[in-house]
Amino acid sequence: MTDIPLVDLHASHAEVAEEVRAGFDAVLASGAYIKGPDVAAFEAEYAAFCGVRHAVGTANGTDAVELALRALDLPPGAGVVLPANTFVATAEAVVRAGLHPVLVDVDPDHLLIDPARVAAVLPHAAALLPVHLNGQLAPMAALLDLAGDRPVVEDAAQSQGARQDGAASGVRGRIAATSFYPGKNLGAYGDAGAVTTDDDDLATAVRLMGDHGSGRKYVHERFGFNSRMDTLQAVVLRAKLRRLPAWNAARRAAAARYDALLAGLAGVALPRTLPGNEHVWHLYAVRVERDRDAVLAELHAAGIGAGVHYPVPVHLQPAFRHLGHGEGAFPVTERAAGEILTLPLHPQITEDQQIRVAEVLAKAVRG
Ligand SMILES: *Cc1c(COP(=O)(O)O)cnc(C)c1O
Repeated sequence: MTDIPLVDLHASHAEVAEEVRAGFDAVLASGAYIKGPDVAAFEAEYAAFCGVRHAVGTANGTDAVELALRALDLPPGAGVVLPANTFVATAEAVVRAGLHPVLVDVDPDHLLIDPARVAAVLPHAAALLPVHLNGQLAPMAALLDLAGDRPVVEDAAQSQGARQDGAASGVRGRIAATSFYPGKNLGAYGDAGAVTTDDDDLATAVRLMGDHGSGRKYVHERFGFNSRMDTLQAVVLRAKLRRLPAWNAARRAAAARYDALLAGLAGVALPRTLPGNEHVWHLYAVRVERDRDAVLAELHAAGIGAGVHYPVPVHLQPAFRHLGHGEGAFPVTERAAGEILTLPLHPQITEDQQIRVAEVLAKAVRG
């Protein structure tokens, strides 16, 4: 029995290999390795894909979140509300932007930021930073309503191509950030990210800051740093973006298949989709109510690359202890951290592989 990986980057590469090789050859011949014409072309194509005016390439997704926040020119130390249940990078970016992370718990059904919790901390908030976790959008209508004049910054790293009530991920907030880390739905062959926005001034600010504050050679208009997209990554992303709608559809079909295969399995709660969401299934995360780590070990022993996203929440990480939240601060997030189990899911996964995952999972939860 061959192993079943959590994601299969080889299978995606096989579909774009020729285009990528030809594109790499052209870049190597041109000698334009940073920014370069492919970056501008990708930015235009990604903006069109999202339905926004601007996409600005960055070196990675964490930088994209930081640059999006910095572009807003919030007062130093201002509070930014984000969910406790996210990848640590969301919180890192807030701190790096000189702002204060205000963590809140998530709702128990979808594990997305809970608007009721956001309402409770609004007096401490200069901006909201919802995370579109696992491939579905946070409840944007409620959040925009609560935010009032405060900017909403979307962490869209896990939601490329996802929609809610007809609007794409990264469109309804004032500005959004995404990541093209290789394992994301749209993944590069190294690090890359982007900021998207309809706001011309914010787009210009991000573009300047990511290139040493400079829009013209040797003129540094504002403080910046180095966070530009590599040309070779843009070649990969252009080729993959053309496949993304089909790949997201394949993910949806695979998620529906897991839903059917696992329906009624005692001790396993299936992931739930927020009404109005068109999910892109970056991760298919079930919840195992008893002894998750033993179940995970059994899947690994059977060659199944299941994972946990994320086993230790941000507020319990040593690096964020200074925020002063102890155990019990965010009970929904903490409980989920002990139960979540991410099953292999990617566009090329086969029905036979999913049947095997379901069989091993069923056996493991029976103990
Ligand atoms: C991947 C990810 C990031 C950071 O992206 P990098 O490209 O790895 O820096 C930020 N937020 C979330 C929710 C992510 O999943």
